[in-house]
Amino acid sequence: MYSLDTPLRAVKGIGPKLQAQFAKSEVLFVRDLLLQLPTRYNDLSKQTTIAAAVAGQSYTIRAKVLQTSKYYRGGKSILRATIVDKTGKLDLLWFNAKHSLQSLIKDQEYFFSGTISDRGGMVHPAFEKVSEDTIHTNRLVPMYTSTLGIQQGRVRRICKHIIDHLDTDKSGDDDMIFATETLPPLNRALKELHFPSETNAVVAARERLTVEELLVLIRQAKENKKSWAKRHDASVIIVTKPIIPKSIPFELTKSQQKASKEILHDLGRTQPMNRLLTGDVGSGKTVVAGIAARQVVLQKRNTCLIAPTRVLAEQHTKTLQALFPDIPITLITGAQKNSNLLQKPQVFVGTHALFSRLEAINPALLIYDEQHRFGVKQRLGEAGIIAHRLTMTATPIPRSLSLALFAYLDHSQIIELPSNRIPTKTWILPEAKRAKLYDWIEHQIAENPHYLVLLVCPFIEQSKDPGLAKIAAAKARFIELRQRFKLKYPVALLHGKQSPKEQNEVLEALRRQKVTMLVCTPIIEVGIDLPQASTLVIESAGQYGLASLHQLRGRVGRAGQQGYCYVFNDSNSPITSKRLKQFVATTDGHKLAELDLDNRGAGNLFGTTQHGFSFLRFASWTNLELLGQARAIEERLPDSWRSKLFFATLPKLTATN
Ligand code: ADP
Ligand code: MG
Repeated sequence: MYSLDTPLRAVKGIGPKLQAQFAKSEVLFVRDLLLQLPTRYNDLSKQTTIAAAVAGQSYTIRAKVLQTSKYYRGGKSILRATIVDKTGKLDLLWFNAKHSLQSLIKDQEYFFSGTISDRGGMVHPAFEKVSEDTIHTNRLVPMYTSTLGIQQGRVRRICKHIIDHLDTDKSGDDDMIFATETLPPLNRALKELHFPSETNAVVAARERLTVEELLVLIRQAKENKKSWAKRHDASVIIVTKPIIPKSIPFELTKSQQKASKEILHDLGRTQPMNRLLTGDVGSGKTVVAGIAARQVVLQKRNTCLIAPTRVLAEQHTKTLQALFPDIPITLITGAQKNSNLLQKPQVFVGTHALFSRLEAINPALLIYDEQHRFGVKQRLGEAGIIAHRLTMTATPIPRSLSLALFAYLDHSQIIELPSNRIPTKTWILPEAKRAKLYDWIEHQIAENPHYLVLLVCPFIEQSKDPGLAKIAAAKARFIELRQRFKLKYPVALLHGKQSPKEQNEVLEALRRQKVTMLVCTPIIEVGIDLPQASTLVIESAGQYGLASLHQLRGRVGRAGQQGYCYVFNDSNSPITSKRLKQFVATTDGHKLAELDLDNRGAGNLFGTTQHGFSFLRFASWTNLELLGQARAIEERLPDSWRSKLFFATLPKLTATN
């Protein structure tokens, strides 16, 4: 018998060569191989007779071998066999087949599975001896990823052998706790996932694994909370009044004041703060973070603010310098020497590159801006730092999710936008109206010399892929607009492939209001604050989900002026038009997030690559309903419970958010 911990080399049929091949994909133990779930199943479960078989359909046919032959054509071998059942004969062909005809014995009965060709035969059918328990034929046949670099048939045989000899749980504890009407026990789940008895069984089996994976996350969140609560090593920051310095040129909203107070309260304790600050795009999170950072500096300690992009780090530095002129605020780039940094307490702003300096800076407060990667230890170098932590995001987090996974975080919310804001007006425009739009923009610019138009294209350059060729590209649009508009301040271009120097020049010109039109990629989606921006044009808007569209729209109208958002849609998909109509209909971020959930499952709330749960193999934001089940099971589990499947494979969650 094998267990999940059995090394693959101990599995019958896996020699050193095959073991090395598996090891290339980090498949080392039985557990790893079984978690390499089939990417799909080939339905060869339908049996038929030769006479009843229809061209184009896939079947399994039970028949005897009548004759076999092998010949060569153009240097290639061709195997041919004729099979027979009570209803007729069928010709089978294999080109360059590795197996020899000796494996097909005359007068023996086999299952032959494949698709009937137009000529009425089968090309490259799978075959195996007739039995109740087949691997390659007469069933839903698992198809594994080709990235393993091992022949399908071989992976299948090994998996079958393991599954037939697998003991997942000697005590039976797990299965008693897990097995419910809908969730099968682990060994059955694994069997069904690899060799399903029927399609529905696959769904239930996957849910079993998903729930177990979520359980691990919930457990880790709880453990984090416990260990965090035991800590009393943070610096106590005593608040200096006034909390809101005169240098801030606007009045804070109620929720900004409340959030600031909550944060400052946490900073006064020896238990390190671990707080999430959420608030819709443009709600003014930066100033709240700055208020906390300032207090820390006034107590002669450092603060680090970590932004997701360099452009944003740069902007934060400038913004905070203007809002808080009484404290030193420094942008950290690669060039500075550590020794130069530590002359006086200050706020350091940078990207993840700051991590390598955290130890030297020894901040009392660590702030993450627009952090989408909840809960995962991706912040190398941060783990050993003793500091209060504040994470800011505009992403609304579904309640069920935050209850289960982020329960160990305290949460401050900014629920209103600054009172000077007017909802941005949004329209979907057909391509035919483009010239008219340009005329209108020209008119706006003529009336206001500091007018700023943002024009966002999904791509930098036109794609060579014909399917993507019509998606708007920033460079081409930039050239076009430079010709179309004769402006006092020029059209500028900003995208991720420019050098930092080029980007800086553009940003500087934007800040000095010496740009009238900015053509860019979604590089501006997160966080960019250009208060003079009034009009936003979103090209090929079908490329974005509602969350991204909302983020983009949050870039205009920030100084309280009327914002305008024009959306071009080059997609014919009805789903896309529905989404864009929803986008036009509301400017409420929470509402849009809910719609996003409805439309496409929770997977797109955070974007596919940004959600930070990419290490999850089964669970996703689409499984939110399973979270409830996982939470209920988690309550019943003994403290000692450890997932046999997942604890070994998940990265450890940090105690920070
Ligand atoms: P976000 O929450 O999206 O990070 P920012 O912190 O960038 O938003 O703030 C958006 C803009 O609103 C900035 O220009 C900021 O100066 C301004 N702002 C923030 N709070 C207020 C307020 N209470 N009243 C007026 N303007 C504000
Ligand atoms: Mg921000």
